[in-house]
Amino acid sequence: MAPERRPAGATAAPRFVVQRHRARRLHYDVRLEIGGVLVSWAVPKGPTLDPAARRLAVRVEDHSIEHLDFEGVIRAGEPGGGDVIVWDRGTWEPQGTDDPAKAVADGEVHVDLHGEKLQGRFALVQTGRPQAGGGREQWLLVHKRDRFAVPGWDPEDHPRSVRSGRTNDEVAAGPEAP
Ligand code: MN
Repeated sequence: MAPERRPAGATAAPRFVVQRHRARRLHYDVRLEIGGVLVSWAVPKGPTLDPAARRLAVRVEDHSIEHLDFEGVIRAGEPGGGDVIVWDRGTWEPQGTDDPAKAVADGEVHVDLHGEKLQGRFALVQTGRPQAGGGREQWLLVHKRDRFAVPGWDPEDHPRSVRSGRTNDEVAAGPEAP
């Protein structure tokens, strides 16, 4: 079932998803529902609850809301070819702003995530502009030191989909969702 489309001005908590995506290189796609789309960053090492970690997050193109539930195999040769699981999902709240789209445009957004794996306050901070020639924005993703912080927490220790319970290997072997 496709995720619910919401009218503009809906007040329900916005959603987020993190997809573990084994494309040419493994990364985790962190996507926040903002203004009717999924504003997205690719995080090569994945998000973590470890407040000492600073994770590179490369801004990538917005995705449609339908992508919230996407889990499966993207054919080789297509952009992002590889396998994808719904690694985490839930709702989120902006902190310190009621205009998260502007916060993203200004290069810094703080969020409280209410996921199954990810909890607590995260900051996304832009650190560099795209390089000439079509590079992407470089950001950092950090977990703040709050009661949800867990030193040493590694996303690779939590490899299963919160949608299906499957690993990327299991999705690759049988891409039809059970
Ligand atoms: Mn991706």
